[in-house]
Amino acid sequence: MNLKVFIAVMVLATLVACHQKPQKPDVLLIVVDTLRWDHVGFNAATGHTPNMDRIAQSATVYSQCRSASSNTSISMASFWTGLPPHETGVLTQLVALPQRHITVAEQFQQAGYQTLGITANPVLTPGMGFSQGFDHYQVTSRYGPDLIQALKDQLETPSPKPRFIYVQFMDTHFPYNPGPFASNYDCADFGYFDEVSAHHKSLSEMLFHPPLDEVEMARAKRVYAASVRHVDALVGEIVETLRDPLLIITADHGESLGEHGYFFGHSIMTYEATIKVPLLIRSPGQLEQERIEQPVTHMGLHHALSRWLWQDIPVHIEAETKPQVAWGHPNLGLLEDNTKVPAKGILGARRSVFIQPNKIHLVPQPETAAAFEVYELDSDPNEQTILPHGHLSDDQWRNVINVFETSVPTQENTGTAHAAQLELLRSLGYVAD
Ligand SMILES: [Zn+2]
Repeated sequence: MNLKVFIAVMVLATLVACHQKPQKPDVLLIVVDTLRWDHVGFNAATGHTPNMDRIAQSATVYSQCRSASSNTSISMASFWTGLPPHETGVLTQLVALPQRHITVAEQFQQAGYQTLGITANPVLTPGMGFSQGFDHYQVTSRYGPDLIQALKDQLETPSPKPRFIYVQFMDTHFPYNPGPFASNYDCADFGYFDEVSAHHKSLSEMLFHPPLDEVEMARAKRVYAASVRHVDALVGEIVETLRDPLLIITADHGESLGEHGYFFGHSIMTYEATIKVPLLIRSPGQLEQERIEQPVTHMGLHHALSRWLWQDIPVHIEAETKPQVAWGHPNLGLLEDNTKVPAKGILGARRSVFIQPNKIHLVPQPETAAAFEVYELDSDPNEQTILPHGHLSDDQWRNVINVFETSVPTQENTGTAHAAQLELLRSLGYVAD
């Protein structure tokens, strides 16, 4: 090649390079299973999450984020698709996420990303549709250090493409894994949860009536807090593995620590303890914290990431303008024989609708019409006082009833239960024999 041609080629190459878009950054999505909204320091000064708090100092914090459900499978199906549960068809954890939906991971895959998913939650299996869009998808043990090792193994092979990495920790899910932090929280020898998880005690008894005195109950709650501290340390470790990614940290749902007589569980109830979740998004190079106080839902992330991928619009979740409906998991037989259960006799799923500033819970009853509980969140954020029905006007009630009546699945969105998943849930103690 003579010099003239060589220079021409170089100029052309430079011109092409100048017109190419810079490669998109890596994206790291961390879902902490069962992480309560009020246990992270960037929402409430807890001291449990120094690593996440540090990240939050230069991130966008959504202080009013709610999940679509208090149950992992229902919530994650909506999270991945941006669709409410009655449209995904995943209304119980026995139903697989249909292939026809476009998930967040599929969008990243189509946009040229390498997609990597590692979850410690045993119900989020490929067989139930949760690996859609992932080049590599793996279910690890429930213990965070195992998950981190699996991720490090995957990252050893360099990728020419940007990466979309999703991990889901389970250490904050019952029976909780405080790791090395148990002694810091004075709960190192607390064995009650181990006995329950080993099926030596009844899970249903613990959910609604744990036989613990006040002192032991306080220790039990410290086990949960210590597990939050543990997972925060793991989050700190995982964030170190990538250089300035688009970082998203959130939870699939919260955890009830005694609210409404419901202890150390989440799936069934849709009160704020199990529906309100932490959410922060840190864009590469972001220096300042931004706080968004408007109510948003998890489902908004699908749209926000899609616009970021295809239109270069910064990741921002739009405030919800429609009433937000949250779904609880229907009874799987877990509670049928427990006379102490305040929600005894649940036949269907609990649902709640959030219409600012009120939240109305639909509580199915076994033999009578469904009951409604009305709360006003501005003055009663922990939903302690049920207001008289007259608190809402006739027009508001018509709206509420209409929302409940229209947020039900169509025939097309009615899924079928997987027998294998039922077996898995039984082995995990979720379903009574
Ligand atoms: Zn979960």
